[in-house]
Amino acid sequence: MAARTLAAKLWDGSRIQPAAGGADLLYVDLHLIHEASSPQAFDGLRLAGRRVRRPDLTLAVEDHNVPTTSLVFSDEMGLAQVEQLRVNCAEWGIEHLRHGAAGQGIVHVIAPELGLVQPGMTVICGDSHTATLGAFGALAFGVGTSDVEHVLATQTLAIPRSRHMAVDFDGITPPGVTPKDLILALIAHIGANGARGHVIEYRGAAVEQLSMEGRMTMCNMSIEAGARAGVVAPDSTTFAYLSGRPFAPRGADWDAALAYWRSLRTDDGAVFDRTVRLDVSALSPFVTWGTHPGQAVPLDGCVPSPDSYPSEAERAAAQRALEYMALAPRTPLREVAIDTVFVGSCTNGRIEDLRTAAAVLRGRKLAGSVRMLIVPGSMTVRQQAEAEGLHEIFIRAGAEWRLSGCSMCLGLNDDRMRRGERVASTSNRNYEGRQGPGARTHLVSPAVAAATAVAGHLAAPGDL
Ligand code: SF4
Repeated sequence: MAARTLAAKLWDGSRIQPAAGGADLLYVDLHLIHEASSPQAFDGLRLAGRRVRRPDLTLAVEDHNVPTTSLVFSDEMGLAQVEQLRVNCAEWGIEHLRHGAAGQGIVHVIAPELGLVQPGMTVICGDSHTATLGAFGALAFGVGTSDVEHVLATQTLAIPRSRHMAVDFDGITPPGVTPKDLILALIAHIGANGARGHVIEYRGAAVEQLSMEGRMTMCNMSIEAGARAGVVAPDSTTFAYLSGRPFAPRGADWDAALAYWRSLRTDDGAVFDRTVRLDVSALSPFVTWGTHPGQAVPLDGCVPSPDSYPSEAERAAAQRALEYMALAPRTPLREVAIDTVFVGSCTNGRIEDLRTAAAVLRGRKLAGSVRMLIVPGSMTVRQQAEAEGLHEIFIRAGAEWRLSGCSMCLGLNDDRMRRGERVASTSNRNYEGRQGPGARTHLVSPAVAAATAVAGHLAAPGDL
């Protein structure tokens, strides 16, 4: 057999048959659902007189709309969607994690915690950032509502064939440079559409040295480069993370799984459609200044001038972004004052992220005017953080310690920014209005977020 990339092996392993229009029909090993993208899919199922084919391979969780200050919903629309999810799951026999329950949290955080996502699987969810789960050497796609309905009915997904891109992070990562900085630097380098239609395989010494949390942060933002998915070849870090988790195989099944998982690597000589190399040893913390994740620069730098972009379209986009963000060209990023800091989301709401933020905040106080929300990605993360005393560091610093949920990542719950407010956010999207109408978002790592909360302006821990 010809040499294949990891993504090609995963694709071939799930492929049932060709589908219309050059697509393939893939078998779905795990279907994750949440309240915001599933109601119409269940309605469609009922209208068509179909049933859920594999409720045992489906897991639902409440995350997008849930309040993070208490279990009481103040948003009627959010509550209605959550109640509909509860009805649908009860009707179709789907396991479901309710707001506040042990194990509840953001869908892309809880699935790995439970050991549900394993190398070689195909996983789908009606949320773009399902790409997170590719960190385990799984094919993980975010899909639309009609695909959610199709998967509920058939446990299969018809999807066009992907191209394959290798991203090699070479060199030794300098101290203070985090996985978030690596992925922001990549997107700034290739552009917000630079990986369109591809599955990215992240490789190189800098990736091999990352924890599973760090790999998830990178894969999470693949979609922000336009990619369909991101993958990392499973290795001893992956196996150590999975070992002993509730849904991980055990005993002889574990041994058999390991033998298969170890085969999930790109073959020598396999050809990618595109290869990008980035020398991480030259990187420093990155922040976004504009209104898409590709508009990112080193924190050491300045807001760019539209004139610095080569094409008319990019110049116009930069000008519009400057106006929305109320920034002037050549302003040093460290002079940008911040109103609110958000640490959370499926990008950076894991225990490692909270430990990083706590290490910066320990013994310090937030700048007088800054508000800081710390929102664990799951109730398990919250419990773990409390067992380590991290919540006490946050509270002493003046931050708000919340229940888990998507929170300020998007404007679908109570945690919205006010018009004109500026936020340093560890989430993944900085589009106009993403965190509330008129809100201005700077994407940052947890380390930069925490330092910014103390300084009152964009800052790195070394500035304190
Ligand atoms: S945290 Fe944000 S990106 Fe992640 S699942 Fe929730 S809304 Fe989507």
